[in-house]
Amino acid sequence: MSANPSVPEQRLRALKARIEAACRAAGRSPESVRLLAVGKAKPARAIRELAGLGQRAFGENYVQEALAKQRELADLALEWHLIGPLQSNKARLAASCFAWLHSLDRTKLVPLLAAGRQGLPALEVLIQVKIDDEPGKHGVAPAGLAALAEAVARHPELRLRGLMTIPAPLDLDHRRRAFARLRELFERLKRDHPEIDTLSMGMSEDLEVAIAEGATLIRIGSALFGPRPAHPTDAERDAESLH
Ligand SMILES: *Cc1c(COP(=O)(O)O)cnc(C)c1O
Repeated sequence: MSANPSVPEQRLRALKARIEAACRAAGRSPESVRLLAVGKAKPARAIRELAGLGQRAFGENYVQEALAKQRELADLALEWHLIGPLQSNKARLAASCFAWLHSLDRTKLVPLLAAGRQGLPALEVLIQVKIDDEPGKHGVAPAGLAALAEAVARHPELRLRGLMTIPAPLDLDHRRRAFARLRELFERLKRDHPEIDTLSMGMSEDLEVAIAEGATLIRIGSALFGPRPAHPTDAERDAESLH
């Protein structure tokens, strides 16, 4: 890295220092935590800049927004993760243009994803769990997790890799307990699915407590790309796409 680092480079350095400190505090190696850069609402050129600094894995919330960026960045070998809620009518398309899905939350999507993935390497799948019982939030309830995992395991086009959660935006102690519960669910699921290896939890504000509770992949937007402009809510997007 250069002597006069750009803003993205400064942000990346600062973030890596946070990750290293959190790993040290947790007695973990920094290599045990993967960084997913979340570029939602940011232009392709911001992703290109970060790719130039060595970042490879990028997360997007919306299929159409991701496709536009993938076209602009087709010259780069990037790994794309879909982390936002997935509508059934976009499941086949999503399965064909992402390497990872973090937001599987219902059985209905499983055959659609498998169909969309035909002839490609297996789609890496994380099940999103609704760990706080907030109304209107996405994710499968813990009670439905085992059945959903079984459904994924029946399809060779899909590879179950683990779990993802977004805790309620309460204080860090609350979030830490939510992450601990996800980890317990992960350990339990591992008995029937020993291949799972990924706990996707932790964002810009709470990555330290997520790493303390065993996150293996953190999803970071604002700490890398700066604050986001106001973004339509999921509900507004869903409504929009019905037209
Ligand atoms: C936006 C988003 C992130 C990143 O959030 P920051 O707080 O900006 O780091 C992570 N995961 C999901 C699912 C998101 O929608």
